[in-house]
Amino acid sequence: MRGGLVETVYPKTCAGCGLRGTWLCDPCEGSVPRLDTGICFRCGGPVQATCRSCVQLDRSIRLARAAYPYMGWVSNALRSFKYTDEWSRADHLASMIVPSLNVFGDFDAIVPVPLHASKLRKRGYNQSELLAQSLAKSTGVPTMPLLVRTRETAAQVDLSREDRHENVAGAFTIGPDWSPAAGGRFLLLDDVRTTSATLNACASALLRSGPQSIVAATLAFDIPSKELQTWLDERR
Ligand SMILES: [Zn+2]
Ligand SMILES: [Zn+2]
Repeated sequence: MRGGLVETVYPKTCAGCGLRGTWLCDPCEGSVPRLDTGICFRCGGPVQATCRSCVQLDRSIRLARAAYPYMGWVSNALRSFKYTDEWSRADHLASMIVPSLNVFGDFDAIVPVPLHASKLRKRGYNQSELLAQSLAKSTGVPTMPLLVRTRETAAQVDLSREDRHENVAGAFTIGPDWSPAAGGRFLLLDDVRTTSATLNACASALLRSGPQSIVAATLAFDIPSKELQTWLDERR
C-alpha cells in the first residue's frame, strides 16, 4: 500500500547499520566501492584474463553496468526494498544508479524487467519498475513497461548459476503497451544481476521490436565470491 501511513511505519534507516533518518549513512556508503574502476568496458564486471560475465551477456546487449557489487549495505537495501514492503527506498537506490548511466550515451526509454502478474499481485509493486520511474524523474527519459513475463518462473536467487538461463529463457514477450513510437534505444533496468540470464531473456524479447540498441543497468551485480574478493583487494 502506498501512502503516508507506510512512511511512518517504515522510517528511513541506513541499509548498512540501521541508523535512523537516512537511507544510507556516509561511513556505510564508503564501505562498498562502486563498480566503476577495474571493470570490463562492455559488461561492467571485474576485469579478468577472460571475461566470464562478457561471455554470459547476450550479444544483443551493447553495454551493461551495475552500480555496486551485491554485498554489504547494497544487499541489505535490496532485501528490504523487495521483500519487506520498503518501496519508499526506491528514489535513493535509483539515485545510486544514475552515475553508472553516463557511459551509455542517449537512450529513448527505460524498460523495467517485469514481474509475472501473480507475483506483482502478491508483492504489490515491481521493484524494477519503481527504480525505472525514479530514474525517469531524474533523467527525463520515460519509463516504458514494454515487456511482460508470460510464465511464472522460480526466483533466480533459489537456483544454481547453471539453471538460471533455462528458468527465464523465453519467459518474456513484447506487451500490449508497445508502439513503434517507443523509440529504438532501450535501457533495460533490473535491481540485481547474477548470470545476466534475465537481462538476456528480456533483450531477446525486445529484439523483436527491431531496436536500434539495447543497454542494461542494475543497481547490483552478484559476482562470484572469489572474483569479488580479488576485485576488492585491488581497490584497497
Ligand atoms: Zn550506516
Ligand atoms: Zn566483460
